[in-house]
Amino acid sequence: MSADHGSGGAPAHAPEITVVGSLNMDVRLTVDRIPRSGETISATGLKRSPGGKGANQAVAAARLGRRVAMVGAVGDDDAGREITARLVAEGLDVTSVASSEQPTGTAVILWEQPESTIVIEAGANGDVDESFVDSRDSAVRAVTDAQVVLCQCETPLGSLAAVTRLATGTTILNPAPAVPVPAEIRDWFDVLVPNRFELATLAGAGEAPASLADVVAMVRGLAFPGDVVVTLGADGSVVVPRDGLPTPVPAVRVDAIDTTAAGDSFCAALADGLLRGEDLVGAARWAARVAAVTTTRDGAIESLPLAHEVPAALP
Ligand code: ATP
Repeated sequence: MSADHGSGGAPAHAPEITVVGSLNMDVRLTVDRIPRSGETISATGLKRSPGGKGANQAVAAARLGRRVAMVGAVGDDDAGREITARLVAEGLDVTSVASSEQPTGTAVILWEQPESTIVIEAGANGDVDESFVDSRDSAVRAVTDAQVVLCQCETPLGSLAAVTRLATGTTILNPAPAVPVPAEIRDWFDVLVPNRFELATLAGAGEAPASLADVVAMVRGLAFPGDVVVTLGADGSVVVPRDGLPTPVPAVRVDAIDTTAAGDSFCAALADGLLRGEDLVGAARWAARVAAVTTTRDGAIESLPLAHEVPAALP
């Protein structure tokens, strides 16, 4: 846990980062190729582990040394108990992880190394709407007191509306998976972190932007009043501030074996960097280093580095 950041008038043990988001059981099948429609193929490996963008980002932030609270829901089933136990073991505050009548969310991942194709059944994550947040004192406190609130789009968009209404700290939206988040919700966030496909969805564009200039033009076209960081996979990211010039941030060159959770660790590290007092470009440079380490390791949650495992300078 970080001892060097005050909580800005919030209660002593208020979270530094609150994540409002999904909790899934990931079932990953290793495949040589993605099957065609109607085809059956054999997997060459099976791995089952806690995941979901919310859980990944929350654990990523905790491993970087942050005091983190999770707001979400799991089923009253073995998967839900396993995920919750894992979050507790990672040091997260799970007071606002509710037990649902729906089964725990499931993600079936076809892993064609190093990329994944994913199908999600939201299950209990579908409970996490506006009233879910509003009706729980612990969730309201976790969102209100946090210095940074991180959200994604694997829970109903109402949860995002609640966050923008309640949060007093910096709000970051990773609009993933690609969902056309309405401007009346989106524009209340301070920072947007889409990849190029999510950016195209937000912009209502038919195709993802190809060049850096296209990315910047598409961001400007959103007329988003906050700052935007577009992640570009192995091509790095570009910081497009609300006012000022865009700054490309290169990826760190590594031998990537599994890019799962690269975006999640990037978002968590961006929040961590901002909490350290970095500006957005500095935070994005730190996030690129953290995400690069993530890509050199197998899996989602298990690939997320501790702060001291991120080299000061990578080749
Ligand atoms: P995911 O959904 O797999 O978590 P994403 O599409 O949200 O990923 P990406 O743009 O693929 O996010 O990656 C996020 C960041 O991770 C990039 O901006 C980059 O800094 C880093 N990254 C991704 N892939 C690589 C790679 N092959 N080598 C080095 N860094 C990478």
